[in-house]
Amino acid sequence: MLTGGCLCGAVRYAIDAPVTELRACHCTNCQKSTGTAGSVNAVIPSAAFKLTQGAPNRYSSKADSGRTLNRYFCGDCGSPIYSQRTETPETVVVRAGTLDDSSGMRITAHIWTKSARPWGYIAPGTTQHPGQPDAPAR
Ligand SMILES: [Zn+2]
Ligand SMILES: [Zn+2]
Repeated sequence: MLTGGCLCGAVRYAIDAPVTELRACHCTNCQKSTGTAGSVNAVIPSAAFKLTQGAPNRYSSKADSGRTLNRYFCGDCGSPIYSQRTETPETVVVRAGTLDDSSGMRITAHIWTKSARPWGYIAPGTTQHPGQPDAPAR
């Protein structure tokens, strides 16, 4: 069982699924929402994700694709915690920096590299998509 939470500790969650692969998103919305080069995420089935404490706030916005992305964050400290698409509720995308322990995890894919900041590091040899791949929600 993996656990994680926000900076102040008001929101806590548990993940009952193995996580080994992380995906980095360099889209401009993730840059704004995190204040950094983008987001690094664990894509997991919603059934394996459970909030164990607190209730995050939600910010929803439409992507270029027309799909709605709901971003959940702590209303007290502002930590981005996870996101979920309205159209794909079966998947949750957890911000990896909120995990208590990331042992054995690594970034295996980068998406939206066409909008990557020049100072956003992309390790050589990782899979890169210029935009949104067909696969799961960002
Ligand atoms: Zn917090
Ligand atoms: Zn993004």
